[in-house]
Amino acid sequence: MSISWPVDWANLTQGIGCEMCNSSRPDSDKYGVRIFSTNNVDAVLQRAGIQRGYTLIIWRGRHITEPYELTDAESSDYWRSVMHVAKALMNYYQPLKMNYETLGNSVPHLHTHLVPRYIKDPAPGRPFPLLPQDGSEAKVPDDELWEQARALRKALGDTA
Ligand SMILES: [Zn+2]
Repeated sequence: MSISWPVDWANLTQGIGCEMCNSSRPDSDKYGVRIFSTNNVDAVLQRAGIQRGYTLIIWRGRHITEPYELTDAESSDYWRSVMHVAKALMNYYQPLKMNYETLGNSVPHLHTHLVPRYIKDPAPGRPFPLLPQDGSEAKVPDDELWEQARALRKALGDTA
């Protein structure tokens, strides 16, 4: 993968051709399994076997690039969801530390990567070497992913 900004950056920041805006919010897709949702937020436990418990929080309201574009009520909904899911991930996976990465450099639509950090970790004491997914990542086996997703849904009060 070449290192550059997306060529359609100007459109993407306006929500034109935005993959996250176009999502039908499925229960499960090629990226992962949804473990929690509100009217405007989804939490998706990732299939990519990058780090145990790696989860994306995705804003599902209108297209937003920067979190400061949210109204106070939307911001509260978003960040409370981030905290709610982060706490459940900490309790379930028992990592040393949770990392919260709100980047949007390859998909400029508001989302936050929750990356649990463990004693045995690719970069102890440093930022996680998170790369954009290109589909070539090793996958968490389906039965393991769903077992974790079911336990997390229960912990998060999501009965979907
Ligand atoms: Zn969008």
